[in-house]
Amino acid sequence: MTTENSSPDVQEGAAVPGPGIDTTLARRRSAELEQRLRDDPGRFRVLTGDRPTGRLHLGHYFGTLQNRVRLQDLGVETFVLVADYQVLTDRDVAEHLAEHVEDLVLDYLACGIDPERSTIFTHSALPALNQLLLPFLSLVSVAELRRNPTVKDEIAHSRQAAVSGLMFTYPVHQAADILFCKADLVPVGQDQLPHLEVTRTVARRFNDRYAAGNPVFPEPDALLSEAPLLLGTDGTKMSKSRANAVALAATADETAALIRRAKTDATRRITYDPAARPEVSSLVLLAALCQGRDPHAVAEEIGDAGAAALKRTATEAVNDHFAPLRARRQEYARDRTYLRKVLQAGNERAAVIAESTLDEVRAAMGTRYR
Ligand code: ATP
Ligand code: MG
Repeated sequence: MTTENSSPDVQEGAAVPGPGIDTTLARRRSAELEQRLRDDPGRFRVLTGDRPTGRLHLGHYFGTLQNRVRLQDLGVETFVLVADYQVLTDRDVAEHLAEHVEDLVLDYLACGIDPERSTIFTHSALPALNQLLLPFLSLVSVAELRRNPTVKDEIAHSRQAAVSGLMFTYPVHQAADILFCKADLVPVGQDQLPHLEVTRTVARRFNDRYAAGNPVFPEPDALLSEAPLLLGTDGTKMSKSRANAVALAATADETAALIRRAKTDATRRITYDPAARPEVSSLVLLAALCQGRDPHAVAEEIGDAGAAALKRTATEAVNDHFAPLRARRQEYARDRTYLRKVLQAGNERAAVIAESTLDEVRAAMGTRYR
């Protein structure tokens, strides 16, 4: 990620700094990719996904879901992963898993991910995808996994008494998720940038060691949105597992109650300054994204009316923007059998691709015995 171009699509200052992650280069690279996507969407293949650990929230929507739908609608081949094994990275048992998986599919459909055009699948159903993990693990060192800032952050928030091997290896599992279908574009939030670096490393090393001159895997790029790190009501990354999130499916009243208790600061005048005032700026950005406006203009308009007015503006903006999505979600929720069918069809499609990639890997490694 070394390109120096900048683009008006990615607002300066919109990325609130995360734990040890510098987003400057990734944002520039995303801007360049946006240009290439406009020119030739058909040459890209997208994969992204989510852990089924709860309902998706506004951070997901503005961090990645909106981009997924936009790319799908541009004609980019899109894969959406329900990362069910990865639930176990930070907890001992995946509670309510079936319910959370259905919730994820509902959120996808309500957002506009179309299962006719995009492949929605669960990685546990794809033995060939998971088998890629073994050769991939041999391509990274323990020290590299240990210093991954997102792994460190997730260990800090883990529910496990002891950190499991799966926690350390899940960036490599993610490499298998991305590379099984040779995706070259991954629309993610900024917490995923270190993981994407692991995927790029795995792809590069595999190609160097086993496929010199005839690369098997692309080195995929992250695509960041205008809100690569939306903060939750407690001022840290909005996360399903941290009780700080406004779910896409929340009611208008739930949304109002959650935003009312969001952390702000002691300065009355509202300004948009993500570095100095992360909590206030995140609420301003949220209102701006929902209204399709510039965050500075939103802050200016609220001005001296203070945090209570900011929260009212943000609540109204969220409830107005998400009303149609919430209504669609309720419609889809009436037919649970359909949700299962979506996954079954997606799993079947993805399994064929996983088998074919594993076969190429076997050929490259000299383990194809036929
Ligand atoms: P969990 O707390 O269970 O890890 P999560 O809320 O972090 O849940 P994930 O399933 O880990 O959600 O992330 C799915 C995708 O959404 C990733 O691409 C991630 O970068 C993006 N994402 C998650 N939270 C945010 C956020 N607050 N702002 C922007 N993007 C986000
Ligand atoms: Mg997460």
